[in-house]
Amino acid sequence: MRKAPPAQQLLDTALQMAQAGLNKGTSGNASMRLDDGFLITPSGVPAEQLSTQSMVYMDWTGQAEAGKKPSSEWRFHRDILQARPEVNAVVHCHSMFATTIACLARDVPPFHYMIATVGGDTIRCAPYALFGTQALSDVAVSALQDRNACLLAHHGMIALGKHLPQALAMAVEVENLCEQYWRLLQLGEPALLTPDQMREVHAQFKGYGQWGR
Ligand code: 13P
Ligand code: ZN
Repeated sequence: MRKAPPAQQLLDTALQMAQAGLNKGTSGNASMRLDDGFLITPSGVPAEQLSTQSMVYMDWTGQAEAGKKPSSEWRFHRDILQARPEVNAVVHCHSMFATTIACLARDVPPFHYMIATVGGDTIRCAPYALFGTQALSDVAVSALQDRNACLLAHHGMIALGKHLPQALAMAVEVENLCEQYWRLLQLGEPALLTPDQMREVHAQFKGYGQWGR
């Protein structure tokens, strides 16, 4: 099957994020790598008003296509794509549970084995920084080291993938884990998996399903 053009892939992802309830209104954004730069959603446009023409091409210097205003978070999209050659897609959302947990401003510990799908033994939470700034990009890139996703304190989450559907699937998984963690916190002190148990999980995931493809 032939792949849809990049702007169509990005539009599909933005619509799917809204349909999945990950984003409401104008929160969130998405990008994908191109040969000589990247394509990103525009700033402040709700998903239902987007079209393929709304998508904004940017080069690696941060220069946007004339007459278009890229997402205010273009810096972290660019910096992540530059820091992580294996990543070709970045999604950002303010989904309910990830954002709620991000307001605790602390890492999510290994309360469930699926935490390993994020790439380590925790989902890191980047310290708070103002939206749309280089400071936010810097803390995000650092929280994403060896990870496929992170929380942004008092803000939301970022998820990465080799392609847009994989980044979206990661965002759905993180949202699910954060909902479980939220529920668990109502019950008391969560029991955690040990480093040895998590090592075993990482080993078991090698070759499992589609992760890492
Ligand atoms: P944009 O509409 O500029 O992408 O901003 C939304 C957002 O989530 C900012 O963090
Ligand atoms: Zn945001």
